[in-house]
Amino acid sequence: MSAETLFTRIINGEIPAEKIYEDDNCICIKDIAPKAPIHVLLIPRKAIPRLADATAEDKALLGQLMLTAGDIARQLGVDDAFRLIVNNGEAAGQTVFHLHLHILAGKGYSEANLGF
Ligand code: AMP
Repeated sequence: MSAETLFTRIINGEIPAEKIYEDDNCICIKDIAPKAPIHVLLIPRKAIPRLADATAEDKALLGQLMLTAGDIARQLGVDDAFRLIVNNGEAAGQTVFHLHLHILAGKGYSEANLGF
């Protein structure tokens, strides 16, 4: 049995996905079950299971993901109003154990008051 994550299989082209961006460190795909008008996933090629598993070695990668999230929001025309979500751990709703940033935006979503 393969230990590869679903996202590693997408990165390797073994499973199709709608890719909107890629570079040497990460890819960005449309979420298959969008929770907002715009819902994409920014995924590092390195399979870090959870954000809490990242180490100092991943510092540059994590910084680059944040910068890339801004670039992608600009590319999608939502840089004035978008949200980033990282679910860490099963109890927090994480279902794919390969670090990813949810980028969510669009009418009826960005303006919603989440209470924090
Ligand atoms: P999380 O619950 O934070 O682990 O997020 C996993 C996300 O991956 C969910 O929003 C799913 O809808 C999404 N997802 C699952 N399978 C696929 C797939 N094959 N292609 C694109 N997105 C997927």
